Amino acid sequence: MTYSEEHRYHRQLGLVDQTAVSSMKISLGGDPQLIMATLTQLACAGVGTGPKGSISICIPQKNKLGNNRHSWVFATSDKLETWDDLTVILKESHNINLNFSSPTKSTHVEFLRGDNFDDDADLYATIWHGQAVLSKSPLKFNTPPNVSPSMLDASLEVALAAATVQRLFAINGVIKENMLSDTWVTLTGRVDGLMPDEAVKEYSSIHGGATATLLPDGSGSLLRFRIPLESTPSELLKGIIHSCKMPEMLSNDWLMEVGPFPLKLNEQGEVISSKLELPRQIDSANLLVLGTGGLGSWATPLFVSGVNLENLNISLVDADSSVDIHNLNRQVLYTIKEVGIPKAPAAAKRLREIFGERPNITAIQNRLEQRHATPAIAVEILGDYGSISLDELVGIEDVIDDEPLNEAIENMDIALACLDNQFARTMLNKCCISNEVPMINGGGEAFSGVVEVLNNGICMTCRYGKDAAYTQEVISCQETGTRPVASIVTTTAWVGAMQAALALLNLAEIKGHREGMSWDCGMIHNRPVGRLPWIEGECSCHI
Ligand SMILES: [Zn+2]
Repeated sequence: MTYSEEHRYHRQLGLVDQTAVSSMKISLGGDPQLIMATLTQLACAGVGTGPKGSISICIPQKNKLGNNRHSWVFATSDKLETWDDLTVILKESHNINLNFSSPTKSTHVEFLRGDNFDDDADLYATIWHGQAVLSKSPLKFNTPPNVSPSMLDASLEVALAAATVQRLFAINGVIKENMLSDTWVTLTGRVDGLMPDEAVKEYSSIHGGATATLLPDGSGSLLRFRIPLESTPSELLKGIIHSCKMPEMLSNDWLMEVGPFPLKLNEQGEVISSKLELPRQIDSANLLVLGTGGLGSWATPLFVSGVNLENLNISLVDADSSVDIHNLNRQVLYTIKEVGIPKAPAAAKRLREIFGERPNITAIQNRLEQRHATPAIAVEILGDYGSISLDELVGIEDVIDDEPLNEAIENMDIALACLDNQFARTMLNKCCISNEVPMINGGGEAFSGVVEVLNNGICMTCRYGKDAAYTQEVISCQETGTRPVASIVTTTAWVGAMQAALALLNLAEIKGHREGMSWDCGMIHNRPVGRLPWIEGECSCHI
């Protein structure tokens, strides 16, 4: 028997009380695009999957879904025409109880587009032209805001949904006080009379070899065999008890801008409607996405929604050889059907299903290394870090066709760094600098995330220092070999959405927005993109 389906939430078990998450009662009313964006993230996290949990939609269930730009997350070949159709699909794919009855004892979110009246919700999520705000009370505007469509709509809706879901976690008190970065089960055996080095030679298991430690009195060893995730009942993993934070109380005047443009209020506390004018879409783009996991899964389709599909080339680069079951709580380009398939081609196939054949999409299963940067740069790096040979980096047995990746680098006009390691970010940054292309850097782990534009004379080295920029540590969603990382949909969705938004703003040459932002448990802060204070004058690494 396998327990694979249960491990969908494995990566978030140390962050939230999963049983409490599954028992949350949430109701969503108002704007259908925002309801759907939020529903996708609630589903990823497993809200409403328990017998006591539910998600209520305050829309007549026979209403048409229409052209909903977020329903693709529920990849289905079944009929999905009305909100009612979604109940069947959500039950089958995520075991979620979706209903349309009036909510009782639920936390209610009202989604508004512009200046609409509403009365009695626990949270208000409001979106208009280029801005998205989460608040405890309905917003008041000095003049009616512009609600015309813009290239940022899809990104801002996902970012606002992420902030909403994160606040719903906090309000419902399901967030753990101190996170566990991973959990696993081991089989332990006691051996008398054998020292640890002898014991590991003597014993093995159907799950592989053992580690051993000396018994306290020195009389023998304790052997430990790690049980693979797919053989572990998830109830055992959920059995660790540690406390949650107290449910969060928000003051009536609490509000937060979740997008790149700062919110301006007048003395009466009214939102000053901005004069911002954004295009509906940009005309063309040559996008390189490095990493199609948690961040790339969101950033890529959200970027695509803001571009004319006729003139869009996308190169998706990921070295991961397979989608894992525990990626599915946040990597929305993949479903249970893609488990076991390499990520880059799976992502390309899915994007074609969503957007049709017009964008030109290339999947590249490769890892960006220093050989892809210019030879002069490779020499410079090896000068200081000479102990790393090319063969060690590449793996001598790997014979990879580099042509597609080299070509993608040469042709890109913007790059998204959706990576799990700093070294590859730095390599991409080198490529971006030599091609004079902006890099939108993103990173996320647990409930923390950052997004920033690296452009205009700032590189990874003068931003983070040489040691940090060239560190070889890989944090990963994989089980072995690297430091595992706790991840949840709210963080990847917000960071990915902001990467898409900043990329679109950069290509459209729009000014006045934040170039760097951070996400800390759903609180969004400005994060100026500057050099380390002790780096003066010209930075030798990128000039
Ligand atoms: Zn620099």
